[in-house]
Amino acid sequence: MSFETRVIEVIQRTPDVKSIRFEKPQGFSYIAGQYVVLTLGNSSTQMKKPFTLSSSPTEGFLEITKKLTGHPFSNALADLMPGDRVSINGPYGEFTFQKEYNNIGMLSGGIGITPLRSMIKYSIDKKLSANIVLLYSNSSESDIAFRNELEDVQRKNPNIKIIDTITRPGMDWKGVTGRINSEMIKRFIPDYQERTFFTCGPLKMVDSMVSLLSELEMPKEQIKRESFPGEN
Ligand SMILES: Cc1cc2nc3c(=O)[nH]c(=O)nc-3n(C[C@H](O)[C@H](O)[C@H](O)COP(=O)(O)OP(=O)(O)OC[C@H]3O[C@@H](n4cnc5c(N)ncnc54)[C@H](O)[C@@H]3O)c2cc1C
Repeated sequence: MSFETRVIEVIQRTPDVKSIRFEKPQGFSYIAGQYVVLTLGNSSTQMKKPFTLSSSPTEGFLEITKKLTGHPFSNALADLMPGDRVSINGPYGEFTFQKEYNNIGMLSGGIGITPLRSMIKYSIDKKLSANIVLLYSNSSESDIAFRNELEDVQRKNPNIKIIDTITRPGMDWKGVTGRINSEMIKRFIPDYQERTFFTCGPLKMVDSMVSLLSELEMPKEQIKRESFPGEN
């Protein structure tokens, strides 16, 4: 279904990540983790791209969160201002969470956090009992999107644990370093076999996460994946 909506807020999340919030159109409903196709420009310069809703269905607005690349679509999106009109199609996708799983592992890289942020927020707002462990990999500390929010979530919810890992750490970084590997999964998610995994990020990263989980003998049915082609 196609919907017209208006920008209500633009939030700079990291130096090169922006969230754009839109009015939630009447009649639009979605499941945490789903995406929309966003159309920008007028009829002669129209551009369309898919974006996960980083908002949760429990929130009163729609939000997408974009890694800025300096390319034409990205620039047009980065220039959006409150009041601007756009159209969205959707929702689409089966990388979703309602309340089907009680024990969840999440493996994410970079902007792949968007559907996972939606699911975590949904689980908290709905007061679900889901136990979630998120391993979130970024190049540098300043690339961690939703950092304050996720730290706050972890403080207030004993059943949600978030571990950031940084691949190019600065001198001040005291946390985990390196790409997500099987040792990290075993260390931070020792009961991984009892969990359903959601992994999202650039295609290569997601392929490698699925391989890791397969090497750990996780059944295919316990691995849900979403990848963003074009990201690296
Ligand atoms: C289901 C789904 C959900 C998604 N959700 C999100 C999300 O939540 N947030 C998000 O940021 N993205 C998301 N994406 C990805 C998004 O749709 C875009 O593909 C992405 O943001 C890049 O768009 P862009 O216009 O900035 O870059 P593009 O111009 O599409 O460039 C993407 C890549 O291609 C390379 N490239 C571009 N043109 C050329 C060329 N001529 N020759 C060689 N290489 C080239 C660039 O270097 C870059 O690495 C999602 C994708 C899918 C499929």
